[in-house]
Amino acid sequence: MSAYEHEVKALIAAAGVPVPRGVVVDGLDFERAGELAEPLVLKAFGPGLVHKSDVGAVALGLSRKDLAAKAADMRARLEVAGFLVEEQAEAGVELIVGLVRDPGFGPVLLTGLGGVWTEALRDTALRLCPISEEDARRMLASLRGSSLLYGTRGGPPVDVDAVVKLLMTVGGPGGLWERLELGEFELNPVIAGPSGVIAVDARHLPS
Ligand code: ADP
Ligand code: MG
Repeated sequence: MSAYEHEVKALIAAAGVPVPRGVVVDGLDFERAGELAEPLVLKAFGPGLVHKSDVGAVALGLSRKDLAAKAADMRARLEVAGFLVEEQAEAGVELIVGLVRDPGFGPVLLTGLGGVWTEALRDTALRLCPISEEDARRMLASLRGSSLLYGTRGGPPVDVDAVVKLLMTVGGPGGLWERLELGEFELNPVIAGPSGVIAVDARHLPS
């Protein structure tokens, strides 16, 4: 199954995963973004746009009046089917949460440090689904970068309970892993902060 970011986000949001408020815009009329709070994020979507930031299909820190020009610029460079405009979440610790379906082991939950750190650090933990809450806490504690979650150098600790809840929503009993139609997917990043988590990117993995 393949679907655009906003479609995957709608599915996970219905299951209780927090995602940013956003609107989908087909043309260049961004009137509907008026209901969103600035700063805004503009993301182009289209059949060939997978790693969006690599090709300049993500613009952060925008005000409403920036949208049309940014979108026109993306349209000029990229094959764009439409745009997702969403509220920009506050910075925090960027995590990856993924679900892969191993042919031998079955559904496996993955979590670790995400965002720009994903490839460089490869700091992840894996568990077979369904996971327990204890599993979720152990996964987080096992990360080499776990101190980022529990507060270091005066930085505020992350709401670890909210991260655990998200991991349970994906990999726990009755979680999204049971929904075969969702296939394999990746939330990267999930931004974790002192007052909760939010999945700011979501995509299906090609099967
Ligand atoms: P891709 O992974 O396809 O390049 P993302 O949707 O993950 O694109 O966006 C790239 C980066 O922009 C993210 O890793 C995150 O740091 C930031 N970002 C994207 N959407 C938001 C948002 N709504 N709020 C805050 N930061 C965001
Ligand atoms: Mg991403």
